[in-house]
Amino acid sequence: MTDCIFCKIVRGEIPSRKVYEDDLMLAFHDINPVAPVHFMMIPKAHVDSLAHVGEEHAAVLGHMMAMAARLAREQGSPDGFRTIVNTGRIGRQDVYHLHIHVIGGPSPLPRMIAKE
Ligand code: AMP
Ligand code: ZN
Repeated sequence: MTDCIFCKIVRGEIPSRKVYEDDLMLAFHDINPVAPVHFMMIPKAHVDSLAHVGEEHAAVLGHMMAMAARLAREQGSPDGFRTIVNTGRIGRQDVYHLHIHVIGGPSPLPRMIAKE
């Protein structure tokens, strides 16, 4: 997708701090981290959100989930981590290219989301 910022990151048109890359996916550090470890994993092929996922995306989604623990460990979250996929208006998604946040660090995170 031409205007999508994460597609631009995939194409190298916008810089990112890369964590991992292969044919299917890219992982890079969040520009505004909320914890000592905060990166995201994205499919290289554009998908708007988790609400737009079908069976044809099962392989890349499975692959990203299978990579999460290894990458989290390598980035400094040795004993678990949190994954978040903000989806659509209700999920407060800001960037409409599906991404899995991986958040962690050396010590436990706050419990889930705060009540507003
Ligand atoms: P959300 O769509 O709500 O899951 O949030 C999008 C996330 O993308 C936020 O955590 C931003 O800090 C992050 N973000 C936005 N632009 C960039 C960028 N150019 N490089 C890395 N992270 C970004
Ligand atoms: Zn995109």
